[in-house]
Amino acid sequence: MVPKRNQGRYCGETIDIRAVLEETENFALQSGWEVQVVCSEPSLAIHAYIQRIANSSRSYYVSAGIHGDEPAGTLALLEMFRQRAWPRDASLWIVPCLNPMGSELGTRENGHGIDLNRQYRNPVARETLDHLDWLQRSPSFDGAVFLHEDWEANGFYLYELNADDNGSLGSRMIESVRQSCPIQPNGPVDDWFCVEGVIRPRIKPENRPEWPEALYMVQNKTKRTFTLESPSELDMKIRVAAHVVALHTMLLTSPY
Ligand SMILES: [Zn+2]
Repeated sequence: MVPKRNQGRYCGETIDIRAVLEETENFALQSGWEVQVVCSEPSLAIHAYIQRIANSSRSYYVSAGIHGDEPAGTLALLEMFRQRAWPRDASLWIVPCLNPMGSELGTRENGHGIDLNRQYRNPVARETLDHLDWLQRSPSFDGAVFLHEDWEANGFYLYELNADDNGSLGSRMIESVRQSCPIQPNGPVDDWFCVEGVIRPRIKPENRPEWPEALYMVQNKTKRTFTLESPSELDMKIRVAAHVVALHTMLLTSPY
C-alpha cells in the first residue's frame, strides 16, 4: 500500500502565491475584467475581478484560498482566466485568494492564527472585516461557490445549501468531476454524511456561533451555495482540473 502523502496536515505541493495572483490579475486585465480592491493592507492584499453583463440572467460569486493550505482552488481560478473559460453571458464576481498571508505561510489560518472561515458572524480579522465591507457594497448573486480542499478526503465532494427540488445542481457537478477525479465514498465526513459526493447540511445559522463564508452568504447574498472540496492527497493537476470542471458545470447552468 502506498503511504499517505498528507500526515496530520496537508503535505503536498505548495505554490508561490504572489506570483500566482499576479499572473491571475494579468490575465483578468487582458480580458477586460474590472479589478476591485477588497483589502488594501499590502501584506494582506485581496483583489476581486468582476465581469458585469447588463441584463444577464445569471450572476455568480466565486472565492478561493480562505484556507492557506488548500492551494488548488486559487490555481483553478488562474486556469479559468488563462483559458478564458468564464461564460461570457454571466455576471461574475471572483475572489481568487481570501487569505494571502496564510497562503504564503502554507497554513490553514491567517498570519495571526485565525481560521478566517469561522469569522463571518463575529469578525475580528482584518481580511474578513474588509471582505464583509466589500460584500455589503456588492449586489446579491444567483449562486456562490467556495473552493476548498480536504487533506483527509479520498475523493472530491461538495456541500450544497438549499438544494433545488427539481434536481440538484451539486449532483450534476459531482457527475462532471467523476470522469477525471475519484469521488468521496459514501460515509461520514466531519459532522455530516456524504452521499454520492454531496453533503446537504441542515443548518440553522442562528444557532451557530461561528459562521463560515457560506453561512454569511446564504443569509445575506444568495440562496444557493456550493462548497467544493478536492482531495489534496492527490496530485495538484487532478485537483485543479476537478475544480475547473465543477465550476464549468455550475456557471453554465441556470440556478433556477
Ligand atoms: Zn478549507
